[in-house]
Amino acid sequence: MPRLKRALVIVALAFTVAAGARAAHARVVAPTAVTGAWAEVEQSWGELERSWSDIGQSWRALSVWGDWLGLRFRLWLADSFGGALGDLVALAEGLDELHERLAPLSVPPVEAGMTSRFGYRRDPIHRRIRFHAGIDFGADRGAVVHAAGAGRVTLAGRSGGYGQVVAIDHGLGVVTRYAHLERVIVREGDEVETGDIIATVGSSGRATGPHLHFEVRRDGEPVDPRAELLLP
Ligand SMILES: [Zn+2]
Repeated sequence: MPRLKRALVIVALAFTVAAGARAAHARVVAPTAVTGAWAEVEQSWGELERSWSDIGQSWRALSVWGDWLGLRFRLWLADSFGGALGDLVALAEGLDELHERLAPLSVPPVEAGMTSRFGYRRDPIHRRIRFHAGIDFGADRGAVVHAAGAGRVTLAGRSGGYGQVVAIDHGLGVVTRYAHLERVIVREGDEVETGDIIATVGSSGRATGPHLHFEVRRDGEPVDPRAELLLP
């Protein structure tokens, strides 16, 4: 073999080996690079998942805080507003009670028209001008008599010219009297509610016929029952 030809074969062989080696190297390197990149992607994904989980955890923590704050807020609202509402209700009840005490009479004592007014009038028996301390209702015998307001019965029985009479103390110096009764249903010391039936109409005592004589006294002084009952 001539020398040149041998040299060429050697160079070609060397090239072939070098190329083969490079290809082999490439085959080894390429998968490594892809695997590395994949690993990086996986790592990033893992970090992302961890971040996501962290966000989730933070969110849950925030929710718990939110719930707690909401609960505190609702409690605070209930505390302050509920308290104020309670105060208002108490005030309204107090005003109601005060109104009841100042104007304790709200029901006419009998369902009948008025036949005699309060004040000075000609006395139906003596025919002289006398002071009429109450008003008269022209009710029939046996008609039911109602308590004009709530209170305690302080008199239930016969008393001079009043005949059978009931007196009710409504508090704060207000007393009502129901006179010339036929039958007294309540007893002294009884607590009555507004509108309770306490007696029936009659003509006992100094009376010309069946009617109800009704009086209202404030601190012992007779006042016009029409004003107390807001009657026309
Ligand atoms: Zn009278």
